[in-house]
Amino acid sequence: KAKKYLGQHFLTDENIAKNIVDALSFDHYQKILEVGPGMGVLTKYLLDKESEIFVAEIDHESVEYLQKHYAKLDNQHIIGDFLKLNIAETFESQVAIIGNFPYNISSQILFKIIDYYDYIPEMVGMFQKEVAERTAAVPRTKAYGILSVLVQALYDVDYLFTVHENVFNPPPKVKSGVIKLTRNPKDGLVGNEILFKKIVKAGFGQRRKKLSNSLKVLEIPEALQSHLFMDKRAEELTIQDFISLTQEWKNAL
Ligand code: SAM
Repeated sequence: KAKKYLGQHFLTDENIAKNIVDALSFDHYQKILEVGPGMGVLTKYLLDKESEIFVAEIDHESVEYLQKHYAKLDNQHIIGDFLKLNIAETFESQVAIIGNFPYNISSQILFKIIDYYDYIPEMVGMFQKEVAERTAAVPRTKAYGILSVLVQALYDVDYLFTVHENVFNPPPKVKSGVIKLTRNPKDGLVGNEILFKKIVKAGFGQRRKKLSNSLKVLEIPEALQSHLFMDKRAEELTIQDFISLTQEWKNAL
């Protein structure tokens, strides 16, 4: 009955559901948005809290189920496709995000959170383990890449726990990982986000090459051509390195 094309794998372990919900710090935010509630295994614990709960669910059958079983969820609190949602207009204020996410759109969800970081102080969510690990990865590892740097520039990332395939119906092919993001824009980033993204993407676009090569597409400013970092590969730079490179780049323009 689960729809594969919607990434539907329903969590069957109540303790894990509780642990995911408990990882969110409720007192700070009024509004909470759950992405992909399905049949509400997380939702029912969320509705016990005092916060205002919204759900974004694309599947009509799941929506009908939620409406039938959770009276608290009226039409104003049920939203459709998360990827089409304008978070700024819909919430107009801070909203924390939670979910056992559909894995076919994991990176899109994370990139959307980054785009709206002004509105999103916190996220607790389950992804396929590999995506959770890439988000939390440190420099000089295979998992460290665009996702790690762009997310960690704006959020502190905690890898909370791993979840086994057999607690889902139907079981996914891979293990899952729950992570928590806590907003913490790193020094020097705000105002330089666009150039920062360009440098990070170009750098990891050819991750085996030195930055002197991979960043050529962006036309490296003269003053930076003999910079210490140009001899390194993207995966050797920390988040703060990428930020200071961005700042020096901007000053050199
Ligand atoms: N939260 C439930 C649970 O833990 O059992 C369901 C999790 S299931 C992995 C992902 C859910 O996301 C499905 O219910 C699916 O219909 C929904 N979904 C898929 N794409 C979506 C989208 N673009 N926006 C909102 N929900 C989506």
